[in-house]
Amino acid sequence: MTLLVTGGAGFIGSNFVLDWLAQSDEPVVTLDALTYAGNLENLASLQGDARHTFVHGDICDRVLIDRLLAQHRPRAIVHFAAESHVDRSIHGPGAFMRTNIEGTYTLLEAARAFWGSLQGGEREAFRFHHVSTDEVYGSLGSADAAFTETHPYEPNSPYSASKAASDHLVRAWHHTYGLPVVTTNCSNNYGPFHFPEKLIPLMIVNALAGKPLPIYGDGQNVRDWLYVRDHASAIRAVLAGGRLGETYNVGGWNEKTNLEIVHTVCDLLDELHPDAAGSYRRLITYVQDRPGHDRRYAIDARKIERELGWRPAETFETGIRKTVQWYLANADWVAHVQSGAYRDWVARQYGEA
Ligand code: NAD
Repeated sequence: MTLLVTGGAGFIGSNFVLDWLAQSDEPVVTLDALTYAGNLENLASLQGDARHTFVHGDICDRVLIDRLLAQHRPRAIVHFAAESHVDRSIHGPGAFMRTNIEGTYTLLEAARAFWGSLQGGEREAFRFHHVSTDEVYGSLGSADAAFTETHPYEPNSPYSASKAASDHLVRAWHHTYGLPVVTTNCSNNYGPFHFPEKLIPLMIVNALAGKPLPIYGDGQNVRDWLYVRDHASAIRAVLAGGRLGETYNVGGWNEKTNLEIVHTVCDLLDELHPDAAGSYRRLITYVQDRPGHDRRYAIDARKIERELGWRPAETFETGIRKTVQWYLANADWVAHVQSGAYRDWVARQYGEA
């Protein structure tokens, strides 16, 4: 049996693939378009591992998806591939509509045809696992209860609207065609291989370069944080035991303001990599808020805890320490991603401009 993982060269997808192959001999086929956010270096430790196959391609390419399904006959599709950065969605929403909506639609249609061709045990076992975000639920007030799975969808950014649309497509393909789907809506992830445009890696990388640490607005926006390997273990749990057609919220009960996050990163860097010029907190700079910036997200994870016995292995304190240590130990990865050398390599490898 095989898993087909879309977006497996990105931040969460690559952590999932590494985590999966560390615990199981079930092969993985990774399909990834290697956009700016996809990076084969994340999967470098799998080079020469016969259990892993990388395919460079687009989830909007139906012919390719059909071929991969026929060739590998996966027992599950785990769908991470997406445009994922809210700020980019504000400046250029088109790519988000294409990949997140059209790409999910293409995969669903291909999965439906493939599943329809299966018989007996293979048909019973097949799963389409859609990986989504808590941002589809919109913004909470400070006194509101955390998002449960029945919270209304109120997406506010082009990114979250495109993910909400994809969630609805997945739901409809289950209700209309019976496709065996499960969906997870997870809070903000952090950990190794996080592209340095997102809050935590950006702060680490800028601090180490002595650059300003830009904080939107008053820094009081609240996010709920989960260590990325805990997201991987939640997906494993839902793939193994999640009820078909159900949604599971995934989170670590770790609500933090952006300012608290940046203070924590600065304090850890002060301890692990002191700067003679003084505490890294001196670099904090407040910048104009993101348009439509959601104030607070918080995940109620009781359903996955109760039904599947899932619990995160890391607390925020242990996870953020591991993360800062990883960035300190992997300066080459950061330099490579930032230098554009990686993109040049992809262009040469695949003969693309
Ligand atoms: P990412 O941007 O790091 O990775 C996305 C990957 O998808 C990249 O490798 C990219 O090359 C690939 N991709 C993009 N367009 C593609 C296309 N058309 N065809 C094939 N591959 C394509 O994103 P991430 O942070 O790893 O997020 C993965 C998934 O998890 C997304 O669906 C996102 O919505 C969801 N999610 C993310 C978070 C978070 O905190 N980052 C939280 C909850 C859910």
